[in-house]
This record gives sequence, structure tokens and C-alpha cells, in this order.
Amino acid sequence: MTLPLFAVFGASGCGRGIMPLARSQLEREDIAAERLVFVDDQPGDGLVNGHPVLRYEEFLQIPASSRHIVVAIANSAVREQIATRCLVDGVQQWTVAASNVVVMDDVKVGDGAALSPFVTLTSNIRIGKCFHANLYSYVEHDCVIGDFVTFAPGVKCNGNVHIEDHAYIGAGAVIKQGKPGQPRVIGRGALVGMGAVVTRDVPPGTTVVGNPAKTFLKG
Ligand code: UDP
Repeated sequence: MTLPLFAVFGASGCGRGIMPLARSQLEREDIAAERLVFVDDQPGDGLVNGHPVLRYEEFLQIPASSRHIVVAIANSAVREQIATRCLVDGVQQWTVAASNVVVMDDVKVGDGAALSPFVTLTSNIRIGKCFHANLYSYVEHDCVIGDFVTFAPGVKCNGNVHIEDHAYIGAGAVIKQGKPGQPRVIGRGALVGMGAVVTRDVPPGTTVVGNPAKTFLKG
């Protein structure tokens, strides 16, 4: 009997943070740890933290009833490229969440998310594909988050905030809440620096830093 096969794509910093979450999620579902591997285009030699590191082509060759990958690479453009590769090969995007993630009412999270320990998603939230929410980040009520958005650790995303595709929010950044019908908008591909306090909209592609956050690089 062939069984499903699971992988964390990326065996570097981000991937090594997601792998233990993936392992314990499969344990909770009674799936053997042998069905979980790292995939990396530069696999190096041997094991990483006890798990084999396969090339993507090797992963595709292992007999499996279905294949599931969480792309654990912080760079959102790379994440999208790999997600597209997976789609072509019928590999499903797999969401991995720490056991203590808190999810409240009416929350929809797209496939391929990585939700680290102590993440909280409160109520009435929409999140796109391959979202990364690192340690202790939260998303408050009525937020809309696009595809391939990345939160570093400790991001405080308050209510009625819209974050567009490929935005990156640095560690400890705080985004001031918007209003119903008048959300605060962080534009596509914007970068919010570590510790920034965002009190205004951020245009697409723009980098903001500081408190209150100011434009550092125009989009
Ligand atoms: N990687 C890959 N395919 C790609 C791009 C990156 O397999 O197209 C792997 C790369 O070999 C490395 C990991 O992804 O092992 C990215 O590691 P990095 O430390 O740059 O980023 P992080 O783990 O912090 O996201």
C-alpha cells in the first residue's frame, strides 16, 4: 500500500524552524515520521536534524499516494516559484501549524501556510496562499492578507488591515488598525522594517522603517 509523502521545502533556517512543527502535526495525525523529509535544491550531505534532505526530483520518485509540501523559505518570490513547480507536478501545498496556534471565528487561510508557535489569528480574517506567520505574530479582526505574505517573529497586525501579495513585515513591527470600510493598506511587495510602527498606508513596493514608520525606499 502506498502512503502519502510530506516535505518541508528548504533545509536552511526557516525550514529547520518548520520541520519540528510538521513532525508533530503528522504525529497528531498518526502518520509515521519516515514519511516526512526535507527537500532542497542544494541538499548537501546526509541528514539535517535527523531528516534526509532530498532533491525535488528524488522526492517525486518516491512511491506515494499523494505528495504534500510546505515551502519553508522566507523569500516570497522563491516561495511562489516553488509553489508553481509543485502545481505542475501535482504536489499539494501543505499547511503546517504549531499545536498552540490560536484560530478564532471565521478565519480562512490559503494552502501552504506555515504558522509558528504562539501565532494568533482572531476573527473574520482572510489570508491567501503560502502565508508565513513566524513566532508570536498575531493577526487581528477583519484583516485581509494576500498571497505569499511573510511575517517575521512578533508582528502585531491590528484590526482592519489589508496586506497585499508578497509584502514582508519585519520582526516586531506594529501595524496600526484601520477602520471598517477604510482599512489600512500595506501594498504589494512592500517591506516593513524591523520594529517599525506603521501608522499610515504603505504604497506597493515601498520600504518603511522607524517609529512612526517613514519611507526609506520608494516603490
Ligand atoms: N532553496 C532551494 N531552491 C530555491 C531557492 C532556495 O532549494 O530555488 C533552498 C536553499 O538551498 C536553502 C534554502 O532554500 O537551503 C533557503 O535558505 P536561506 O537561508 O537563504 O533562507 P531561509 O531559510 O531563511 O528562508
